[in-house]
Amino acid sequence: MYELTALKVTDCRRCRLSRSRTQIVNGSGHVGAAVMFTGEAPGKAEDLMGVGFQGQAGKIFDAMLAYLGLRRDQIWLNNAVRCRPLQGQKNRTPRPDEIQACRPWLLQDVDQIAPRLIITLGRISYASVTGHDDFATMRGKLVSVPGLPSVFPLFHPAYLIYRREMRSVMCHDLTALLRYMDEHGIEHSPGQPGLCLS
Ligand code: SF4
Repeated sequence: MYELTALKVTDCRRCRLSRSRTQIVNGSGHVGAAVMFTGEAPGKAEDLMGVGFQGQAGKIFDAMLAYLGLRRDQIWLNNAVRCRPLQGQKNRTPRPDEIQACRPWLLQDVDQIAPRLIITLGRISYASVTGHDDFATMRGKLVSVPGLPSVFPLFHPAYLIYRREMRSVMCHDLTALLRYMDEHGIEHSPGQPGLCLS
């Protein structure tokens, strides 16, 4: 289990997602992390377990971390929104007003964890962190945003479940990310360079 901290939000009702959640899925990991990963929203398994990136997407996320030589207890992991968005019984994309309502909690994590690098996972996460809508052109590149640490956008792991052919693109981006981490002294283990998402 990962270290949970005072960054826990315990009873927020700022948006309609408070009505569909089983529980709030707070950020988790290491409070002194140099790297923060931000996903989109909790899904069914996360909503039940209270921890981000479970199930198939979680396995891909863990493979990404292994490639980078990182473990969950060395990073900080959170989402653009902390409660599960539902359409009927299915997950849906969080709406702009829900992302806006949850953004103060995201910024609180950035302020208190003070990471050197934020890795956004998917278009929604990228837009929620940066306010930009150019994910398609900036994915796999370093992005500077005034007032924030450097941002490095990647695909969301869930995207790779059905788009297996995009795994090689993700590996290319992860290699660029690894190079950036090495050049900027961001600590990590040797990783598994020959085993990207295998
Ligand atoms: S999604 Fe965020 S803002 Fe909305 S109720 Fe949950 S914690 Fe609060």
